[in-house]
Amino acid sequence: MSEPVGPLDSLRYPRFAGPRTFARLPLLETVERADVAVMGAPFDGGTSFRPGARFGPAAVREASLLLRPYSEPLDLLPFARAQVADAGDAGPDPLEIGAAHATIQARAAELHDSGARVLGLGGDHSVALPLMRAAAARHGPLSLLQLDAHADTWDEYFGHKLSHGTVMRRAVEEGVLDPHASVQIGLRGPLYAASDLEDNAALGFRTLLARELDATGVAGAVGLALERLRSPVYVSVDVDVLDPAFAPGTGTPEPGGLTSRELLAILRGLAPAGLELAGADVVEVSPPYDPTGNTALAAAAAAYDLIGLMVLGQRPRHGST
Ligand code: MN
Ligand code: MN
Repeated sequence: MSEPVGPLDSLRYPRFAGPRTFARLPLLETVERADVAVMGAPFDGGTSFRPGARFGPAAVREASLLLRPYSEPLDLLPFARAQVADAGDAGPDPLEIGAAHATIQARAAELHDSGARVLGLGGDHSVALPLMRAAAARHGPLSLLQLDAHADTWDEYFGHKLSHGTVMRRAVEEGVLDPHASVQIGLRGPLYAASDLEDNAALGFRTLLARELDATGVAGAVGLALERLRSPVYVSVDVDVLDPAFAPGTGTPEPGGLTSRELLAILRGLAPAGLELAGADVVEVSPPYDPTGNTALAAAAAAYDLIGLMVLGQRPRHGST
């Protein structure tokens, strides 16, 4: 098999120049195949408060220009170990959520069928449903790590079953994910009622509230995750898991969240377990609410670590040498 085609060499072609693919990686269509495909899902019609996440994929790609090829904490050259490519964006219907999800799911399924693992860039969190459906169709029921200020397990919102606040309940109902092998970390903020969290627990989810992280530390969060997760894992990073100080550019910000350092440490903490990642996403980046670009920068850093985890957890490809 030929060597992976990596990003442009930043020491020959500076990082602010060149194409705006994720990390200046090759477009999928220019390489034979990919082990990991980065796919944008620019849809924000499922949001309940501030819109703008349709511009998330472009902002995360722009912020990803800063990434360098070597991950020190993972001691890994992810783009040399595996072929990572930018698959561009799915082109979702901006006005109809079911049609939008169908388009995103179909594109993700194509990528999975080609043997790639898909890292989705949202978009509001509703896009995780078609992304998880496509991953589960290929890999079986998913074990979910959800990093989020919110559980996203409402039954409906204004009478609608599909929104960014209902996505995880739908995934459980469809058998796409196994809540008993799933963990939610970072939940916080005022709720409509105590039943919000009770209903979430009744579905089978384990949660670590953001305020509980003060006692457990990152090590406790990682320990809980590793206790619950089993391959194949899907990691969904809702950027609002971060405190608005780190990620103001998001649809439903909640004070009292994680630092960027905590989020990245939790992701990296999964690496020694060698879990197989079926897919992942980074969602809810809404650039219009963050003139600093820090939200997209944190999202790009999380995406980079997710790619690292995908590469480390790769199983040999069926039929390949
Ligand atoms: Mn959220
Ligand atoms: Mn969410």
